[in-house]
Amino acid sequence: MADRTVVVLGGGTGGLVAAHQLRRLLDPSDRVVVVERDHTYRYAPSFLWVLTGARRPAQITADLRRLRRRGIEFVEADILGIDPTQRRVKTTEAELTYDRLVVSLGAELAPDALPGFSDGAHNVYTLDGALHARAALQRLHGGRVAVLVSRLPYKCPAAPYETAFLVEALLRRRGVRDGSHIDIYTPEPLPMPTAGPVLGEALRGMLHQRGIGFHPESTVERVDTKRSQLVLADGERVVCNLLLGVPPHRAPQVVRDSGLAGENGFIPVDPATLQTGAEGVFAIGDVTAIPIADGKFLPKAGVFAHAEAEVVARRIAGELAGRRTDATFDGAGACFVELGDGQAAYATGRFYGEGGPQINLRRPGRHWHAAKVGLEQYWMRRWF
Ligand SMILES: Cc1cc2nc3c(=O)[nH]c(=O)nc-3n(C[C@H](O)[C@H](O)[C@H](O)COP(=O)(O)OP(=O)(O)OC[C@H]3O[C@@H](n4cnc5c(N)ncnc54)[C@H](O)[C@@H]3O)c2cc1C
Repeated sequence: MADRTVVVLGGGTGGLVAAHQLRRLLDPSDRVVVVERDHTYRYAPSFLWVLTGARRPAQITADLRRLRRRGIEFVEADILGIDPTQRRVKTTEAELTYDRLVVSLGAELAPDALPGFSDGAHNVYTLDGALHARAALQRLHGGRVAVLVSRLPYKCPAAPYETAFLVEALLRRRGVRDGSHIDIYTPEPLPMPTAGPVLGEALRGMLHQRGIGFHPESTVERVDTKRSQLVLADGERVVCNLLLGVPPHRAPQVVRDSGLAGENGFIPVDPATLQTGAEGVFAIGDVTAIPIADGKFLPKAGVFAHAEAEVVARRIAGELAGRRTDATFDGAGACFVELGDGQAAYATGRFYGEGGPQINLRRPGRHWHAAKVGLEQYWMRRWF
């Protein structure tokens, strides 16, 4: 039997991969429908190269309507409601029914959740924010640069550290490093704490080597825009001439209202199959909450959204064909950490298992930076 409909919510990392793999694996008469509010796709890992001037927006954006050329229906609309009991999705364009649903709606950025952030900080987690930050960096001739992690959890746990490394190298190249201070403020106890102390301490050492101040367990209460200061929860005030910030994150409202979400607003799933509590509904990527050892959750990162999308596509294709499938997600991922000067570090990790994450950090070098560039080129060609 064919003519079934698989609806994919979100055209970001997980949604793109899921839609392509479903199209490849399903019967040609089955429909694959992607619903996404914005037809412009933005490759987030390269926002940090926009910040340094190494990329222009045109190099890292693509038009999602091109999915239609690959036999994938693309609906540009806001998703207003998900009703798993009726197997329906309400959007600003149409109401869709599905046989299987893949929710890949990501984590929403909520700059307004931190008073003063929107006016006082450059949001390095958006393309526009990275462009503005780049212009501000070009005008900077010294002073205090603060990199701020507003709240936990946030996606791509490496990105704020990469931001600090790249800015440090940039200011050095411009000859203004001596008159500058760069500091990171984060509620985390260590860089990338979910990956364990070995990686965290290694990154802390790399920050120290480059003279970047690291202020762990610092929660910022507000940004005092009049005085250009961060106001920390303990009352301390930190002056900064340039504030590069990761805004608070939250689960999208439509997910929180759907009945799929758990206590923290994100969607609990079976760690291996990505099946939610609702029949025929899978969730992948940043919108999920997957518990791992020590009461932590799997980090929110594209590498996991990608791998999970592959698994879900295979499971759905198997289910619809009436075949048993043993495709499962094993909690493995990898991460580049840009260090500036054309260098990067690289870590691989296995996050499932009772003993906690097993992480392998490779020696930093130019080849890891080249590999990160290669991944960007592959990604922009592969899916569009
Ligand atoms: C600066 C930066 C650097 C990063 N670097 C890396 C990296 O090097 N490696 C890595 O693994 N990860 C990296 N990430 C993280 C990575 O981009 C995300 O983890 C990944 O995109 C998550 O995929 P997703 O499909 O879950 O969500 P997303 O890619 O965020 O996609 C969600 C989509 O859903 C859409 N959407 C949400 N709500 C609605 C609605 N109501 N109606 C319609 N559409 C909606 C959104 O518009 C969005 O397109 C980085 C992120 C940033 C910001």
